[in-house]
Amino acid sequence: METWRRLLADAVTTADEITERFGIDAGQLAPVIRRYPMRITPGYLRLVEAPGDPIWRQCIPDPAELCDDQQSDPLHEERLSPVPGLIHRYPDRVVWVVSGECAVYCRFCMRKRQVGCMTSRHCEDPFGEPLRYIAETPAIRDVILSGGDPLLLDDERLEEILARLAAIPHVEMVRIGTRTPVTLPERITARLCRMLKRYHPLYVNTHFNHPREITAEAAKACARLADAGIPLGNQSVLLADVNDDPAVMTRLMQLLLSIRVRPYYIHQMDLVRGTGHFRTPVATGLEILTALRGNTSGMATPHYVIDAPGGKGKIPLLPDCISRRGDLWLLRTYTGETIEYRDVGQPATVLPG
Ligand SMILES: *Cc1c(COP(=O)(O)O)cnc(C)c1O
Ligand code: SF4
Repeated sequence: METWRRLLADAVTTADEITERFGIDAGQLAPVIRRYPMRITPGYLRLVEAPGDPIWRQCIPDPAELCDDQQSDPLHEERLSPVPGLIHRYPDRVVWVVSGECAVYCRFCMRKRQVGCMTSRHCEDPFGEPLRYIAETPAIRDVILSGGDPLLLDDERLEEILARLAAIPHVEMVRIGTRTPVTLPERITARLCRMLKRYHPLYVNTHFNHPREITAEAAKACARLADAGIPLGNQSVLLADVNDDPAVMTRLMQLLLSIRVRPYYIHQMDLVRGTGHFRTPVATGLEILTALRGNTSGMATPHYVIDAPGGKGKIPLLPDCISRRGDLWLLRTYTGETIEYRDVGQPATVLPG
């Protein structure tokens, strides 16, 4: 058995194992786990230093998950699904949910309603319908493999998907969204990377939420992907008592660049049922963005976005740094000073001859 498969088999999945390991009574977690499964890889669990810390909060169930009255699918992913497994919200790109499994079930997951509980569809060609839709929709030029975690598929399955997408002329690029560099870095094998590099242009977006997740193993996994020529991005979720702090988020973004991962998005928590205890005010996100802008590398500053309820797409939120007075622009510098800026040198009309 491959190392990563063995580690996955050793993952912690029951309340008893948490009780045993941390010497606390975790019995009240059993009903939560029955509703929303738990899975924690041995490596990720080792990052927990104390109950309630930022790693604990991300992976250990919380009774609060059962008392939250939001909708289970506020982004209308199911309504926007033309065939099972595809979410087609924007004109030129689709999300394809190719796996229902993850190495660690994040307690704040926006697809909490399905991850870990998807019934696998036993049909001859599970990829047939989504592939047919993509092939018959020439507007789709960007396919985002998601889940669950696409890298929980084995290399052969994943290669079949990539090869079949590569055969569709209008698909110009593929992205893979995976948290395995964080939760199961052993999955990023040399063999996997040799396979992936045959399917460029391929992008990988990963998901680090806290500086403590940037371990030597995670760095090595990212280096392997980057060495295979894959540009790496990161999508963090803003989480109460995990990373809702300008200093923590700034350090995370800087450390990501040090392992060759470019911060791409910070997501405002979706209004998904069972995740209420992670929600932060929008003002907190804006404060973090203000702390990043200009105070550290521009490359360390991602877009802060809200995925609009009702499936209306991602909307970037920007701290107020521009306003208008007559023909003057008032610009706010990163130190908080307001400066005036006037448009000058309008291009003159060029006369022929
Ligand atoms: C986030 C998302 C995408 C990708 O959006 P980008 O801004 O291009 O990264 C595509 N489809 C759906 C349904 C999404 O939620
Ligand atoms: S890895 Fe992603 S899809 Fe899987 S549980 Fe975590 S947030 Fe959800």
